[in-house]
Amino acid sequence: MWRDVNSIKYIWHYLVFNKEISSSRTDRDIEKLIAEKIALIKEIESATEFPPRESSVCNWCSYQSICPLWKHLFVIESLPEKEVLQEKGIQLVDRLERLQSERRGIETQIEETKEALFEYSDMEGMDRIFGSAKMAKIKREIKLSFPDSNDEKRIELEKVIKESGKWNEVSSLNLIKLAKKIEEGV
Ligand code: SF4
Repeated sequence: MWRDVNSIKYIWHYLVFNKEISSSRTDRDIEKLIAEKIALIKEIESATEFPPRESSVCNWCSYQSICPLWKHLFVIESLPEKEVLQEKGIQLVDRLERLQSERRGIETQIEETKEALFEYSDMEGMDRIFGSAKMAKIKREIKLSFPDSNDEKRIELEKVIKESGKWNEVSSLNLIKLAKKIEEGV
């Protein structure tokens, strides 16, 4: 292809930022790229397993009907309308969702009951409350709690620590982020 062309320059036009970025390849770069692509083609041709990897291209993929990630939708679509809710997969997922929702409800009730028990024990000055079969021990302790990294108050906390000059005493190196930066060649 284009045998009379001796060198190629790539130019990316970033119209939004009104910027041009150009780059070129030496013959060695191109040979390396060709070797890499040929190796990749061989790897693909010799593959016997094709694990699914969900991505934005799934929306246009013509293998969805046999893909483990999507084929259940095709099974459902092939059923007569009155049989859809009887399908085993749908029933199992619906049951799981129902049970998880019940569990969330029960967990909320447990927390509310503990809170009420604590208030009662506080008001009556009792550290053991007896039920008809079981007894609840009330323990009081002060626990420090800090906003986690997703909490917007976390930024405020970090600012306060930095301003107090204590940042180096309480923070430590994040090895996962360090490894990522090294992998990215930063
Ligand atoms: S739908 Fe296609 S692209 Fe998406 S995981 Fe399945 S096979 Fe891959």
